[in-house]
Amino acid sequence: MNHDVIVLGAGLAGLAAARDLAAGGADVLVLEARDRAGGRVEQTTLPDGRLVQLGGEVVGSAHTAYLALADELGLTLVPSYVAEPGRMVRATPEGVSAGDPPHWFGPGDDACHRKTTAAFTALARGVDPDDPWSHPHAAALDALSVAEWLRSEGASPAVVRLWEIGQLALASGSYERTSLLSALRKHAAVPGSDDAEPCEPYDYTAWEGQRVAEGSATVALRMADELGERVRLGAPAQGLAVRPGGCTVRLAGGETLTADAVVSALPVGPLRRLDVTGVSDARLASLHRQRQAVAAKFAAVYDEPFWRGADLNGLSECEGVLGSTWPQNEGILSALVPPERYGVLLGTPDALRERELLADVARLYGKSALRPSSTYLRMWGTDPWTQGYVTQWVPGDVTAVGPLHGTHEPPLYVCGSDQWVAGYMEGAVRTGRAAAGEALARG
Ligand SMILES: Cc1cc2nc3c(=O)[nH]c(=O)nc-3n(C[C@H](O)[C@H](O)[C@H](O)COP(=O)(O)OP(=O)(O)OC[C@H]3O[C@@H](n4cnc5c(N)ncnc54)[C@H](O)[C@@H]3O)c2cc1C
Repeated sequence: MNHDVIVLGAGLAGLAAARDLAAGGADVLVLEARDRAGGRVEQTTLPDGRLVQLGGEVVGSAHTAYLALADELGLTLVPSYVAEPGRMVRATPEGVSAGDPPHWFGPGDDACHRKTTAAFTALARGVDPDDPWSHPHAAALDALSVAEWLRSEGASPAVVRLWEIGQLALASGSYERTSLLSALRKHAAVPGSDDAEPCEPYDYTAWEGQRVAEGSATVALRMADELGERVRLGAPAQGLAVRPGGCTVRLAGGETLTADAVVSALPVGPLRRLDVTGVSDARLASLHRQRQAVAAKFAAVYDEPFWRGADLNGLSECEGVLGSTWPQNEGILSALVPPERYGVLLGTPDALRERELLADVARLYGKSALRPSSTYLRMWGTDPWTQGYVTQWVPGDVTAVGPLHGTHEPPLYVCGSDQWVAGYMEGAVRTGRAAAGEALARG
């Protein structure tokens, strides 16, 4: 049977695309490799009813596509960890401190941080997030890493370290290996509420200030429920032949399926493994040039948020194997292992991983951290169906991927968080719905 559209991947992007296509009257089939829908949003329920998020979790006020979808699905947005009272902790090998300034700052560092932040936000104003390639110095800004640029602006080593620990807390890959143009583009896409008085290059309220009370993965699960049998699980695509009159998808095992159009909603790693024919060389080169930062997520469940007793908010930036922690739900700490430290975790015997990660948490919040009621470790970076975590742009990548980024070559449409400026659930929903809109407009 020929379908109007086959969607590859049942993450937020694929499901959002399929939902709109179905609502627009298209006969759509979603093929998903795993035996569950949701992709990088995944959750589990504890015996006491608390939900634990193992993947994507928080959104912000600037994430308009995601917020609109959550509203359509009848879900509730509540404040995330940003509403927690108390101080943030920073931990480096030589010290641990709570609140600002960080323990490695000396005289002049605070002023230097403000100056470089103001220079960064001013530079970002000249970048069009939808067309960063049009900047008169696009290639030069792309060739430079954020850390190189900071040093060229006179940032002290202490300030570079503050920017770096913040970046690794997000697990997006070191600023030593992040394109300045990509960072400016990300800031330009979500400039933040108080950009007139810049204080941080990443506005936590705009990016991370809210979460879905019913659970982040519920957004995907609700859409999958709506789509019902139009989502086929355990169906990994291996090949895709694109032709103007119709496309053929080959599944692992040899079965073939046909459709008038295909929407790829795959992360860039798995997409590279798909055998694609009938698409321009330029398109494939652009798609195959994209990459993701690899990261792991660790969640530790406690009976209560014990860190509050010390006037701490559960938020941290650290230079252990962990890069950050934050409270995801009452008594539950989330933590990320950034790409630069993922290899350390991979080399650690399974039996030691939890113990060593908890030792990092105990360094931040004391010995109570060593006694969780349960823990969860999700190695997303080496999961075959994700092969990463969020989009990463190393110097030169924005230029090399080029203006084909986020565009389509009908009858092949491409969406997924990697097709937006910087990944995230917003990127998945935004590009998924946009791909459906374009496909429907073409009939
Ligand atoms: C640990 C972690 C924490 C995060 N935290 C946040 C956060 O707090 N806020 C935020 O906004 N974002 C966060 N993100 C990012 C966000 O979760 C993702 O960007 C988003 O969910 C990706 O959606 P997607 O649909 O583009 O891709 P995915 O969710 O990866 O979906 C792709 C789907 O394609 C399937 N697939 C792969 N290969 C094949 C194949 N060959 N055939 C068929 N199916 C295939 C996969 O199984 C998957 O279901 C986080 C991600 C991770 C991993």
